[in-house]
Amino acid sequence: MRQLIVAANWKMNLTRQEGIALISEVVPMVRDQVHTKVKVVLCVPFPFIGFAKRFFQSQKNIALGAQNCYYKPAGAYTGEISAPMLKSFDVDYVIIGHSERRQYFGETEEVLAEKVRQVIANQMHPIFCCGESLQTRQSGYHINFVRQQLSQSLFHLSAEDFAKVVIAYEPIWAIGTGHNATAQQAQEMHFALRQHIASVYGQEIAQQTTILYGGSCNANNAPEIFACPDVDGGLIGGASLKSSEFTNICKSFPLYKLIAD
Ligand code: PEP
Repeated sequence: MRQLIVAANWKMNLTRQEGIALISEVVPMVRDQVHTKVKVVLCVPFPFIGFAKRFFQSQKNIALGAQNCYYKPAGAYTGEISAPMLKSFDVDYVIIGHSERRQYFGETEEVLAEKVRQVIANQMHPIFCCGESLQTRQSGYHINFVRQQLSQSLFHLSAEDFAKVVIAYEPIWAIGTGHNATAQQAQEMHFALRQHIASVYGQEIAQQTTILYGGSCNANNAPEIFACPDVDGGLIGGASLKSSEFTNICKSFPLYKLIAD
């Protein structure tokens, strides 16, 4: 079945000391309390990447993630971080196309397509973020809008490469606002995206694609959202900065998903 994932997006939060304190709390909690079928991905800020892995070296269901990378492999791009650099620090997942990067850093679907290519060429998994604004949802065009984001940034990939992609549906109006999408809204979009993937890559690949929900997800609403048939976990911002809240989110999958083959 599909890989279940809960990914933490720490964003631009925490000092070195605070990051060490949080990771030191989260790792044993995940080890002791979270089902081994759930992969926990910690997408930490770049400066933490060098040391974060030491805290969970032998724990197979925790992986290291980054929050971005540059779309070129190397060169005179002062201040940027490349996919080969991330790979050399044992990073396995890279968030690509978060709405904050699209909004504040002007990232376009074309640039995101290049970033996705870089991440995959370096044997990592992109966590590709997509999602509509409130205005687009209110216009009723939201499903087509998000479908187009996938078409433009992902559908250049071969089937073999597409199978390495994780998708995170994150409605912009739900991110950091305390207003999560309802389970029905999440399921409707996830189902539509899976059908869209199937139309290009076939049902087998579509059924194996992990699609996460993100946007004000917390320990209270995660059980209902994770129970939706097409929701395979979450991308968690604010609530990932609290160890017990985050661990409880990681424990929110219904039993039937945990025992599926
Ligand atoms: C995010 O930014 O990816 C996110 C889901 O944030 P939050 O959980 O805080 O809404």
